[in-house]
Amino acid sequence: MKKLWAFIFLFSFFYVQSPAPVGIQNLANTCYMNALLQCLIASKKFVGLMQSINFASVTDENTKNLGNTFKNFVIQHAAGNNRNEPTNPQEFAACVNMQGIFTGDVIKEQQDSDELFIKLIRLLGEEKKDLLDFFTIKSETRLTPACLQKMAIAFTDTEEEQEDIVLRLPLSADSLDDCIKNFFGKKKSDIYCNNCRQQACVDQEIFITHYPELLVILLGRRDEKGKKITKKITINPNNSLIGSYEYKLIGCVFHAGTGTGGHYTAVIKKDSAWYECNDTYVNHLTLTKAQEILNGENTESYLLFFEKVKEVQLHAQKIQDITNLLMQTQNYIRGLYVNTSLFAFK
Ligand SMILES: [Zn+2]
Repeated sequence: MKKLWAFIFLFSFFYVQSPAPVGIQNLANTCYMNALLQCLIASKKFVGLMQSINFASVTDENTKNLGNTFKNFVIQHAAGNNRNEPTNPQEFAACVNMQGIFTGDVIKEQQDSDELFIKLIRLLGEEKKDLLDFFTIKSETRLTPACLQKMAIAFTDTEEEQEDIVLRLPLSADSLDDCIKNFFGKKKSDIYCNNCRQQACVDQEIFITHYPELLVILLGRRDEKGKKITKKITINPNNSLIGSYEYKLIGCVFHAGTGTGGHYTAVIKKDSAWYECNDTYVNHLTLTKAQEILNGENTESYLLFFEKVKEVQLHAQKIQDITNLLMQTQNYIRGLYVNTSLFAFK
């Protein structure tokens, strides 16, 4: 009987800890901010991280205030604001304005959710590395000449390393999964191979070397002229495999309108239930409805939030073994080609 009571107690504790999400007041033009905050706070890992960060040591007063206000907002909003009514972001927005990270007023003027995310996390992340690291994705482009592969010689060279807090994903296909596959898949590089003296020899592949806890994907919805690309992209609401990790979609920011103006909303997943967040309004969604919205029924998805679940496929040790073998072969080949460069850039 004692066990049963302990179970009921624990169950009620978790139930109280995870209330249904509440809305956020729109102060004038702050829908872009509200949609972003809803997605971030849908991540329990992010809320936990913010709870653990102490901004007291930050020397710049404005940055310290911004950090503390942001932290308080995240904790309050995640707890359902205690009163189960829309949270007021006034104090947070005022701190963002004080910091001057935008040229315009963040309350009166429409901004972009991705821009606020990047500027906010980079600014606070300068002081608190845990916060920056939580979102940092590191990758490298590896080049492998097919001619050497045919001769069963393993050679791979790293051309460039990238580091960012968002993954900028081109809309190369009709579904998000395919866009991801295309981005990380093997492609022919236009690099000239000095070994076989051919243009179409070198394979190019992007590998993630550091997986963030919360992966933020920014869809390439702007063309060179800054015009919005309204192409529909189907989004799988189930967990996705990104590199060698399984990730769980927990939020998506949508934009309705043109490249110069419009309205931002969010769809979030909390405790396996889906919700649509439109400023003060939060509606529970069936999986079918969530799927329709995700697929761009009326608005365009543009900023996606994926929480890391677990490593899959290759065991870490196996990856290490392969890496070591590659390094040894690479050093051997480097010795052979000591005075000649294998790649010539166009
Ligand atoms: Zn070649």
